[in-house]
Amino acid sequence: MLFPSTIAGSLPKPAWLAQPQALWAPWLLEGEALAQGKRDAVRLALFEQERAGIDIVTDGEQTRRHFVTTFIEGLEGVDFAHKRTVRIRNRYDADVPVVAGPVARRHPVYAEDARFLRAETGRRVKFTLPGPMTMVDTLHDAHYRSREKLAWAFAEILNAEAREIAAAGVDVIQFDEPAFNVYFDEVRDWGVAALERAAQGLPCTTAVHICYGYGIAANVEWKKTLGSEWRQYEATFPLLARSTIGQVSLECQNSRVPLDLIALLGDKDVLVGAIDVASERVETPEEVAATLAAAARLVAPERIQACTNCGMVPLSREVARGKLRALAAGAALARGG
Ligand SMILES: [Zn+2]
Repeated sequence: MLFPSTIAGSLPKPAWLAQPQALWAPWLLEGEALAQGKRDAVRLALFEQERAGIDIVTDGEQTRRHFVTTFIEGLEGVDFAHKRTVRIRNRYDADVPVVAGPVARRHPVYAEDARFLRAETGRRVKFTLPGPMTMVDTLHDAHYRSREKLAWAFAEILNAEAREIAAAGVDVIQFDEPAFNVYFDEVRDWGVAALERAAQGLPCTTAVHICYGYGIAANVEWKKTLGSEWRQYEATFPLLARSTIGQVSLECQNSRVPLDLIALLGDKDVLVGAIDVASERVETPEEVAATLAAAARLVAPERIQACTNCGMVPLSREVARGKLRALAAGAALARGG
């Protein structure tokens, strides 16, 4: 089937689990009620995706407050009690945890979540993890004193985690690397290699997601500085084309990315972002189909999946539901259905 549909990863959380339309909102439940609430939220996320007609579903990242730090909370060597203010992706300041010693993974972080996701749906499932470079960029490092060394340590940890997630029966593991759109020299020198280390030997499909971020003010301001054509992917895609990673998830809809850059991805599967997550306006199926048709003039149609530009967690549930339906309907339209 041409143009299977999937999402970048996250969906809004129900109002009883966390404050709506807020990034990184704290949990509104505790203890066993929180554990049950997260599982119910995953069930709802699956229901919304399946009812909309999404083919490859995720858990909507309903069990995480933040796509990077929730994973890091499960590791040793990181001090969350004494945070430091750092500049994230050269763009905005945030209070972040401190790497205070060697990082280590003493127990699985998401394996149970992956088993639950696999058990709750008959559809193909995708599980998301942060990429090594983006993890490094979300911390203050007081131990390794080297972004590259810390990235390699994280890559080994991610690989151990990903192997257990794959063993749960997931079809795709995606690493989120928005930092790849910022630090081009590091991407070339060690970023892609660290990503490959994280994905090494996995029995499932592997993917990397690279985007221009949520529609938060800092990102909107940053995008204004990028000029009329966003050519950031031009540096990274040829490197990814030569990598062991199977799929690349990227931003297209409403962005100033010249679509012809996707031709640089060689034989990779291309997850075309046909839904803008920085706008409340719900795309029409015709718009989604037009984006997919434009992509299909540049890469083989059988290598294209219909996807969102990024996660939908900052949107209202109603808008996200509309966008899910537009995505699936647009993909069906593009395949002539
Ligand atoms: Zn993204």
